[in-house]
Amino acid sequence: KATRSIEAGLLFYSEEMNQRAKEHMRIEGELRQALLNGELLLYYQPKVSLRSGRIVGAEALLRWRHPVRGLVSPGVFIPVAEETGLILDLGSWVLEEACRQIREWQDANLIMPPIAVNLSARQFDSKLPQRIAAVLERYSVQPEQINLEITESLLVRGADAVIAIMNELRAMGMGLALDDFGTGYSSLAYLKKFPISTLKIDRSFVIGLPHEENDCAIARAIVTMAQQLRQEIVAEGVETAEQMNFLRELGCDQLQGYLFSQPVPAADFASMLRDGKRLTLGARLPPA
Ligand code: C2E
Ligand code: MG
Ligand code: MG
Ligand code: MG
Repeated sequence: KATRSIEAGLLFYSEEMNQRAKEHMRIEGELRQALLNGELLLYYQPKVSLRSGRIVGAEALLRWRHPVRGLVSPGVFIPVAEETGLILDLGSWVLEEACRQIREWQDANLIMPPIAVNLSARQFDSKLPQRIAAVLERYSVQPEQINLEITESLLVRGADAVIAIMNELRAMGMGLALDDFGTGYSSLAYLKKFPISTLKIDRSFVIGLPHEENDCAIARAIVTMAQQLRQEIVAEGVETAEQMNFLRELGCDQLQGYLFSQPVPAADFASMLRDGKRLTLGARLPPA
């Protein structure tokens, strides 16, 4: 009887895997179509400086306006795109769209902070700097307008080739941010080998501030290390004034999170820039 239920379990499991595979194939096909049909768009989430209260950057985040399912978040389709290689086409689209948008905003006389674009490790080959340079040129966008967000998975590969590409991107004038820092497997010794200009503390360590002792210790260690390595530091996923205050005391200047703003459509981000939206430290907060 026990054997039968194990077999039933295995059958069920493989049926589930089968469903997943089918789901992936469906998403892949639809995503290809989405790219052609213009169903993709970028949202922008501001980064704000605690010292000045001003918007000092933004991250471009991919969204898919699906004709039936509505707005689909990247958590659903990026992993599929990574698996199938479609991420290369998506990544090119994102870079192109971000530059087109920056050009449009600059033509409308907006003062633009740098815009960060997420890169998949798969996009990281020796032709990448050339490809980016071509897009920048096409839209007359300065490389200083662009930050590239990469993840630790790229560092684990650790090849000199990766370092060379990063050096090239930095030499062009682009910032390089290490995203979701602390969630990957890169050792601290690794970190200094790579020309990273910014560390982004992952949201999973920000959530517990200031109550979870371990999160506080990790956040403190990351900020201290970034300062030693002369890297900029951005805290992701800041939702509460308590988290903000703790980060400020640590000396982390830049925040990105719902406390200031969710990711918003391009027009809304432009309005924030135009209106000079500021982080107000608010009467709600206890005195420092
Ligand atoms: P990420 O690069 O770490 O982006 C930050 C994510 O955290 C975004 O999720 C953002 O909406 C979310 N977030 C920001 N502040 C808060 C907060 O205060 N609370 C909470 N709960 N969440 C917050 P999103 O837009 O769903 O993107 C998820 C991930 O998908 C991104 O994580 C990134 O890894 C990937 N992604 C998004 N756009 C692209 C893209 O154009 N290319 C690539 N390769 N990956 C992308
Ligand atoms: Mg990112
Ligand atoms: Mg991140
Ligand atoms: Mg993240």
